[in-house]
Amino acid sequence: MNGPRKLYVKSFGCQMNVYDSRRMADVLAPHGYVETAAAETADLVILNTCHIREKAAEKVYSELGRVRRMKEAAAAQGRRLVIAVAGCVAQAEGKEIIRRAPAVDLVFGPQNYHRLPDLLARAERDGKAVDTEFPIDDKFDHLAAPDRAAIRARGVSTFVTVQEGCDKFCTFCVVPYTRGAEISRPVQKVLAEVEHLAEAGVREVTLIGQNVNAYHGEGPDGRPWPLARLLERVARVDGIDRLRYTTSHPRDMDDALIAVHRDLPQLMPQLHLPVQSGSDRILAAMNRRHSRADYLDVVARLRDARPDLALTSDFIVGFPGETEADFAATLDLVDAIGLSGAFSFKYSPRPGTPGAEMDDQVAEDVKSQRLQRLQETIDRNQAAFNRRCLHRTFDVLFERPGRHRGQLVGRSPYLQPVQVDAPVSLIGEIAAVTVTEIASNSLFGALVQAQQPPVSALLSAGA
Ligand code: SAM
Ligand code: SF4
Repeated sequence: MNGPRKLYVKSFGCQMNVYDSRRMADVLAPHGYVETAAAETADLVILNTCHIREKAAEKVYSELGRVRRMKEAAAAQGRRLVIAVAGCVAQAEGKEIIRRAPAVDLVFGPQNYHRLPDLLARAERDGKAVDTEFPIDDKFDHLAAPDRAAIRARGVSTFVTVQEGCDKFCTFCVVPYTRGAEISRPVQKVLAEVEHLAEAGVREVTLIGQNVNAYHGEGPDGRPWPLARLLERVARVDGIDRLRYTTSHPRDMDDALIAVHRDLPQLMPQLHLPVQSGSDRILAAMNRRHSRADYLDVVARLRDARPDLALTSDFIVGFPGETEADFAATLDLVDAIGLSGAFSFKYSPRPGTPGAEMDDQVAEDVKSQRLQRLQETIDRNQAAFNRRCLHRTFDVLFERPGRHRGQLVGRSPYLQPVQVDAPVSLIGEIAAVTVTEIASNSLFGALVQAQQPPVSALLSAGA
């Protein structure tokens, strides 16, 4: 490649895609690509796509229309703009994408982005390139490490992928087909990445995976380590003050993992634990392999270990066969858990999954109406959780400037964004903040005066 080229990457969907997008930029940096926030000036545009729901997949095609017009404008100025489609839509649809959107030059799946420089050369030589094989080699072994400037630009809190793929096969979900079988990265490789991030100033790491608590990466002793042990080891990396992990499956919340919520001070008191439905009949049809009682039992054991644990979840409404009674059980479960927040979705039949073939699909207007009722219940729970934080003092990790002059935004231990009047020098620092106001679910706080010792989060049991 000659001279610096501009790269624009747009991520759709989950945190795994955010992480992958950054790693694509890392792979291309030694080949002369620098990231830009202005797509229209780019030489290479990558859309890193999500296939989880139909709407997410369709968004890609409308975005491709916009990028095609940019490509035409660039060509009119004598510039070549290369368009690449990456991620799960690319994996699922392969060359069909080029058939529907001929302006696309390059299509590659989530397991192939370490080959990006070769794929770009192939597209330049042959006009188009498609790579959606599941390779035998591990992409992580071929990824260039980001430099300090790139790490700092990404902020003091970052993701590290430790596990990929899924073997659970929930009947609604495309992940096992687009991301492939479950694999875990070896402990030493995760540690090397976290140490590199910490040296550049990262303070908080979220270990991520589609099914992160099924982690079983090879330890330095040659044996598989569970997630609890990995967390304990990562917590010992100098400079890492805060740890989180996501997304977990209720079946893989083992005793050791529950215990680290009690024993590991760096592990933040917040957990995303998707349940999907409150009805045993629907959970069985979804092949979740846990019941409502199993889920409540895990929650009780977690709260026993960490009484102030903030729990969030995912829900799907209108899965085939869901009756009003099944849905009422979901509403009831939200209140029974006392969630601090949740994502909720209308069921979207995905081609190739068993759910899409089921007979008793729920009508769209019923799904919409249930989604609205569920969101009201979730909002009520979230507001109650936030109200319990008013006048409390806890540590906030400041991440970036706020919307107003003199304001910073940081995260509470419970992952809530908190807006505080504070000097820019506090970005990257952890400081004690008292919550002074809550307005439409946003938290506002004030720095605790320096002479007072920082007080860690102490919410009441069940908060
Ligand atoms: N692995 C995680 C788990 O087991 O819950 C999350 C996977 S997925 C990326 C995130 C969420 O998308 C799921 O928890 C589910 O609520 C939702 N989702 C997945 N497939 C869906 C579908 N076909 N229709 C609607 N929502 C879906
Ligand atoms: Fe999808 Fe279920 Fe695997 Fe989560 S556990 S990624 S919902 S198949």
